[in-house]
Amino acid sequence: MSEPLFDTLAIIGPGLIGSSIMRAAREQGAVRTIVTCSRSPETRQRVTELGIADKVVETNAQAVEGADLVIVCVPVGVCGTVAEEIAPHLKEGAIVSDVGSVKGAIVRDMGPHLPGNVHFVPAHPVAGTEHSGPDAGFAELFDGRWCILTPPEGTDAQAVDRLAKFWRLLGANVEVMTPDHHDLVLAVTSHLPHLIAYTIVGTADELETVTRSEVLKFSAGGFRDFTRIAASDPTMWRDIFLANKEAVLEMLGRFNEDVSALTKAIRHGDGDALFEQFTRTRAIRRGVSS
Ligand code: NAP
Repeated sequence: MSEPLFDTLAIIGPGLIGSSIMRAAREQGAVRTIVTCSRSPETRQRVTELGIADKVVETNAQAVEGADLVIVCVPVGVCGTVAEEIAPHLKEGAIVSDVGSVKGAIVRDMGPHLPGNVHFVPAHPVAGTEHSGPDAGFAELFDGRWCILTPPEGTDAQAVDRLAKFWRLLGANVEVMTPDHHDLVLAVTSHLPHLIAYTIVGTADELETVTRSEVLKFSAGGFRDFTRIAASDPTMWRDIFLANKEAVLEMLGRFNEDVSALTKAIRHGDGDALFEQFTRTRAIRRGVSS
């Protein structure tokens, strides 16, 4: 095992993502000490029982004191409040990061609270499951997945490099892009699919002529695979849509136009149009590894 990249890692919010970082960091020897804090006594108790941190403390302020790397792993909507809370307690020269699924809002909400003597490098590991909490985490979550870093303009390049090394050690591939570009890319690759999945489950449930048990029974026809992501955490997804409003609305507008075109083709029995569209999109989908 190589020398640890950081002395002390503080994880605020040891849920699915936070606890996976702790497990992977420990397994890889990426840090010497792991400190964590969760808002509820129940989660703190569970993390203590799991033994995945060296120290479980009661306040976010305590968690970041003396930490060289702080990763905020709470829902996007509360990252700003957490930044405000930890700001006065951060160690000079520390790297402060997050894992939020939206980046423009994180830069706007967290950035202004952080002191000038720390390095703010927002990040988004594009990895996850539909489960939540410290029991759902696992060390291999980031293996072969992308982690996108979105440092605001003027961020110290060495700090970006150090965080990139950390994520690579945890198994991820790293890419750097602007926060706004990240939000546009994720709007189409992640946010729109989740919105559609949540919608279809609702549509199916509200049908009067098809029962819920029939939907479950025959779900292998596409419903089950397609809607797995609709089992994801509602708080997290509410925050993502509120925080990435512009990009999601842009993608939804385009999507609605495309659905309208297909609706028209079905209504007019335009088999050529349908066949052409499905042939084109099948080829694109086959080019994306599973
Ligand atoms: P999670 O398993 O639900 O864990 C969330 C953590 O945040 C818990 O420790 C929870 O504390 C804490 N928390 C929740 N609400 C809070 C509040 N109002 N104030 C302070 N702390 C609060 O969530 P997760 O799936 O790890 O997601 C965490 C972050 O990762 C989100 O920003 C999400 O956008 C991002 N992300 C998620 C995925 C995914 O697939 N899940 C993928 C990539 C990125 P208690 O348990 O003590 O309440």
